[in-house]
Amino acid sequence: MSPWGSKHTLSRRVFGTVFVVAFAAIAVFTVVGSAFLQSNLAQVTRTELHDEAEIVAAALDSTVNDIAVLERVDIQNTRLTLIAENGTVIYDNQEPAGSMENHNTRPEVVAARSTGHGSDERASSTLGEVMLYEAVLLANGQVIRIAQAQAGLLTILISFVGPLLVIAAVVIVVSFFAARRESRAIIAPLLDVDLDHPKRNMDNAYSEMVPMLERIESQRQELKRQVKVLADNDRMRREFTANITHELKTPLTAISGYAELISSGMATDEADVKDFGARIYREAGRLTALVNDILTLSNLDEAERSESNDAASVLGSTEPVDLPRMLETVEQRLEPVAHKADVALFLDAHPSMVIGVPRLLDELAYNLASNAIRYNRPGGSVVLTCGIMKDGRPFIRVEDTGIGIAPEEQQKIFERFYRVDKSRSKARGGTGLGLAIVKHAAAFHRATIELESEPDCGTRITVTFPVQVFPDAPLAAQSA
Ligand code: ADP
Repeated sequence: MSPWGSKHTLSRRVFGTVFVVAFAAIAVFTVVGSAFLQSNLAQVTRTELHDEAEIVAAALDSTVNDIAVLERVDIQNTRLTLIAENGTVIYDNQEPAGSMENHNTRPEVVAARSTGHGSDERASSTLGEVMLYEAVLLANGQVIRIAQAQAGLLTILISFVGPLLVIAAVVIVVSFFAARRESRAIIAPLLDVDLDHPKRNMDNAYSEMVPMLERIESQRQELKRQVKVLADNDRMRREFTANITHELKTPLTAISGYAELISSGMATDEADVKDFGARIYREAGRLTALVNDILTLSNLDEAERSESNDAASVLGSTEPVDLPRMLETVEQRLEPVAHKADVALFLDAHPSMVIGVPRLLDELAYNLASNAIRYNRPGGSVVLTCGIMKDGRPFIRVEDTGIGIAPEEQQKIFERFYRVDKSRSKARGGTGLGLAIVKHAAAFHRATIELESEPDCGTRITVTFPVQVFPDAPLAAQSA
């Protein structure tokens, strides 16, 4: 494409710069040169005039017939004026002497009268010219003056206009080609950049380009990371949907199977009907628990994506939550379950408070405690603890003497629908979402989860919250 093809091209800019700089340099050189030339020419003319004035003065001093001498003097373009002692013009070779005004006030005449020699330079009546005057005092008191017109600066400058236009045309042509060559040379390293691998040609790039290339590289890496996150999210979403469908289908199939048996009259026995009814009730309970867990998780997902104000509308607003009181209600609700499983449930609650969403914190503690009972053994125990760490961070801890978790399973159990032993989980009414809710609820409260477990010995899970700041409470109360 032609360098002039588009309005903003590098060639245009380079051309503009080269042309302006070159032309400005030539113009300045012309003006300064002209002034220098004019001053030199004037100096030469002045010297010549001085010498001529001396010669004419000597000739006049040695004669009595001044006018005759002067009429014979023929110096080209030179004006000769003889001025009497009283200032009247006796002779002038260009104007009638009688019509000329008194010359005793002219600076060169005044100087000649006082020092014997005087000179002056005045603007001429002709535009662009200056008149140079040289005056010499004669022995008889008269003054002879010689004057010559000299080209002024403007005249010299005007004489340069023609050549200057020619030079400008040459500069335009030279600038055009220089700009094209220069802009191609400037662009070359830019075109060499491989935007897919900006670091590859970094050595050939201009050093000014390095920060930009580094930024492109880091943005590329970030983009790659985000694409991977999106792909992972998409995979997880698809897996989650497939899992939900499967998990919902199992109790629904059971419910519709038992209901069909009853409605078709196949369950004639009252005991059978009761049994099927109890099974339907249990499966419906499992379905409700599953739907509730899915809802909680989806709310947590939405809260993670939204701003903090919107999170409150999804999950409920945050408020100070008294951890001992909360663990106490969890203990009371799970006491019958623990009793049934022959697990002893203990509470070791120390004063502690957290600003959070009460329903979420309750669910977090309930899920941990419920797991500790369900994955326990008859005769085992569970301890629910809360308090403040030495460094001021509040915590909730659930410790059991249950079946424990193998080290390779310890990370996986926080994934949605992951169960170490699927049949055991289902037999005990698990949805496979309990720890996923714990993980997201903890993250929402910026809490960390620490899991310590040994197969066949037991499990200890500690959720530690950041140091709390209670806006309305006095400082002393905060550390209680
Ligand atoms: P579930 O509804 O199956 O209990 P969770 O997400 O709560 O789902 O737990 C995931 C899995 O982690 C459980 O199926 C179980 O295998 C294991 N697990 C959770 N808590 C404990 C624990 N206290 N002791 C042993 N295993 C546990």
